[in-house]
Amino acid sequence: MQLNASRPIRATISATALRHNLARARHFAGHAKVLAVLKASAYGHGLLRAASALRSADGFALLDLGDAIRLREAGFAHRIVMLEGFFSAAELPEYSRYRLTAVVHREGQLAALEEARLAAPVDIMLKLNTGMNRLGFAPAVWADVVERVRRAAAVNAVTVMTHFACADDDRGISEQLAVFGRHCEGLPWPRSMANSATLMRYPEGHGDWVRPGIMLYGSSPFADQSALDLDLRPAMMLESEIIGIQNVMPGESIGYGATFRVERPMRIAVVACGYADGYPRHAPSGTPVQVGGQRTQTVGRVSMDMLMVDVTYLLTATIGTRVVLWGDGLPVDEVARAAGTVSYELLCALAPRVPVIETD
Ligand SMILES: *Cc1c(COP(=O)(O)O)cnc(C)c1O
Repeated sequence: MQLNASRPIRATISATALRHNLARARHFAGHAKVLAVLKASAYGHGLLRAASALRSADGFALLDLGDAIRLREAGFAHRIVMLEGFFSAAELPEYSRYRLTAVVHREGQLAALEEARLAAPVDIMLKLNTGMNRLGFAPAVWADVVERVRRAAAVNAVTVMTHFACADDDRGISEQLAVFGRHCEGLPWPRSMANSATLMRYPEGHGDWVRPGIMLYGSSPFADQSALDLDLRPAMMLESEIIGIQNVMPGESIGYGATFRVERPMRIAVVACGYADGYPRHAPSGTPVQVGGQRTQTVGRVSMDMLMVDVTYLLTATIGTRVVLWGDGLPVDEVARAAGTVSYELLCALAPRVPVIETD
């Protein structure tokens, strides 16, 4: 055993689950091509590890130039889309050299492409802001932008894209989709619009290149449909063990700030997992945890390296009993909901200090 892996916490990443979820994405996508979104270290699952498991995707989407180069150097010849594009014109030769597709979403990028003299022109995804007001050209300048892109010598193939703000709730995509349709009418270029929620709910929003992220990692983007309902499998399991037990009496309290007041005799287990491992500090008492295969809940504040759980009625729970923080049997979506956040935040916050085990 490695000495630095003696603390019992570990994350297990399942390549089988990743492949299964990609097959689900393909099932929804029909003829559309699939860009597997690998930003934020593949939502905490590890860039190269996830790319290997997802190598049958048609392309990858990410943010960081260094990550894109790492994928190329590891031999991935896929289309690689850079979701924020280049940050300065100085990066353009690398885009050309490594055949990266740049999302082009603002004037400065377009001007840089007009001026660039590149060994080989670059592919771009030209982004229209259809209402989310994050990245993208305003509809008012779009026609002009399209004309300039047509004339820019440094531009090779063009795909048009947008991103939906409410695909995961009942407001849906219709308003933004109408804006996109109106502005892209007659353009000869392929289209890319769909995140996981759009992919699973709105066939009319698929276009030619879909961009699933969260569903590949086995989590649901919807509040009203679980990952199980959607036949998605958790790709990450975060687990640890009980390293301490306290028997506490009414009138006592648990953890920092004494936020949990004990009202009946309780048996409390201390688990080697805290916010420095990526567990959300704002998870309140009552957040679900699985101990020795049975559900129970956290009590008191999460501390840096540990959290406490109620094992009063889990009679076999003792030092060394396995604890699942999320994964098989305890969907990360449930933990996220209890903590007032989304699974995305929990998955990508997995700390570098947590040893990762890959399973096939
Ligand atoms: C993150 C991201 C996606 C993937 O979204 P999910 O909700 O994880 O499927 C798709 N497109 C863009 C532009 C993104 O930033």
